[in-house]
Amino acid sequence: MSGPRDAATGSAAEPTAGRPVATAVVVGAGLAGLTAAAGLTARGIEVTVLEARDRVGGRTHGLAVAPGRQIDAGAAYLGDRHTELLSLVAELDLKTTPTTMLGASRFALGAQHATRDGRFPPLNAVALGDMFELLDELTAAVRPEAPWLTPDAERLDTTTAAAWADEHLTHPDARLFFPLFLGEMMAADPADVSVLHLAFYLRSGGGIRYLNAFEGGAQQDRIDGGAHQVCERLAERLGTRVRLGEPVLAVHQDADGVTAHSTRGSYRADVAVVALPPLLADTIDYRPGLPVRRAGGRTARGCAVKVNLVYPEPLWRQHGLSGWSVNAEGPLLSTVDDSPAADGVGVLTGFVTGSEAHRFAALDARRQRAAAVEQAARLFPMLPPPIGFHVTDWVNEQYSQGCYAALFGPGDWLRHGPTLTTAHHRVHWAGTETSTEYFGLMEGAIRSGTRVVAEILTRL
Ligand SMILES: Cc1cc2nc3c(=O)[nH]c(=O)nc-3n(C[C@H](O)[C@H](O)[C@H](O)COP(=O)(O)OP(=O)(O)OC[C@H]3O[C@@H](n4cnc5c(N)ncnc54)[C@H](O)[C@@H]3O)c2cc1C
Repeated sequence: MSGPRDAATGSAAEPTAGRPVATAVVVGAGLAGLTAAAGLTARGIEVTVLEARDRVGGRTHGLAVAPGRQIDAGAAYLGDRHTELLSLVAELDLKTTPTTMLGASRFALGAQHATRDGRFPPLNAVALGDMFELLDELTAAVRPEAPWLTPDAERLDTTTAAAWADEHLTHPDARLFFPLFLGEMMAADPADVSVLHLAFYLRSGGGIRYLNAFEGGAQQDRIDGGAHQVCERLAERLGTRVRLGEPVLAVHQDADGVTAHSTRGSYRADVAVVALPPLLADTIDYRPGLPVRRAGGRTARGCAVKVNLVYPEPLWRQHGLSGWSVNAEGPLLSTVDDSPAADGVGVLTGFVTGSEAHRFAALDARRQRAAAVEQAARLFPMLPPPIGFHVTDWVNEQYSQGCYAALFGPGDWLRHGPTLTTAHHRVHWAGTETSTEYFGLMEGAIRSGTRVVAEILTRL
């Protein structure tokens, strides 16, 4: 059994202690890949992790906003049902901090401009209630572990959420709010996702109320100092097994093993784990070729650009405001208080999602800043000009191709769903998009990594 080949020398890498029970090469050092690598290493398997970027973490990424103060440019929020993430946080000696939501919300929804307690928008409550009831019905009917087996799956998989809204949402307030809801929940333009995917996503994440809620829901807490630390600490433990700056271009198999070819070398192992979002997994040359590709012609990039505005302190709190806002006009379709738990600075995070993300991403840096700062000042007139301004364009990140997660468009679940987790000979699949539990979330990524470890142990 040969070990992974060292990129520089082409020689087999030595196991750290004695002879390994087997070797594995993991492609991608996000939460999924690193969880898989940590699990395999713990069971005596010699692992090499190949990461394209010069950092680990993938869609989790820390941003320094002041000395000693890091915030999330990528994934941020978690809730009490995210049990695997929470145990990893505890194991790695990290802490969570509650997401601050005290105070009134701001709304700028068409003609409705309001400041009010809670997060329910100042729109027709009956119309929104009816909309959520219809979505609840769809969500309850979906088979989360196998969406393609949902009753009426074919029709639901070929209908876009936009077409569904055209047919079912008659009240203008529901039609106004639906795309904002999809943008906030799943960074989706309704034209990009099938109804089956929408229903699955909501169900997989614990239902509309859990996904949407702060207290008692999926946004309840953040990781103090940033979610990227989970990956950084996992990678620290893995040490030199993690190789940065090595995009994998090809994964070739034969009767005896599998070889991952990166831009810098070739790595031979008994098994491979590809822990990438589907659009990126499909850029790899597989031999033998995949019977079914990982993504389809309608699989879209999740559309989110994250904007972080930094102020000397969270001034909105002194005016009884939570920092939360929902806006029909962009670029910031919603804002939230993401200030670090420790005193020092105030951070207002703006989400630019759905089709607005493409428009905003196309602006030059000066126009982006002008538009975001002007909107923040309109929403929160007490704010001085920001002392820091950061834009993270996930839509055009080469090694993410969108976020929060890939959007499954018409036809995707029926065509690709049944093989999402089916190993291709020695190649196993991880990544949040392979998880039917908490798909698209950090929790889903970790669960996919754990699943792949179990698959490989069974194989061996
Ligand atoms: C702005 C934003 C907000 C989000 N909000 C939340 C949230 O609040 N809560 C939540 O739970 N989740 C959230 N998410 C989603 C969460 O970040 C993801 O579900 C999770 O991090 C995905 O992990 P992963 O390991 O599956 O994929 P990734 O993190 O994408 O990891 C894949 C890795 O593979 C690498 N790679 C790509 N191509 C190659 C190649 N060819 N060769 C080698 N390496 C390669 C990438 O660089 C990356 O490191 C958010 C994401 C973003 C971006």
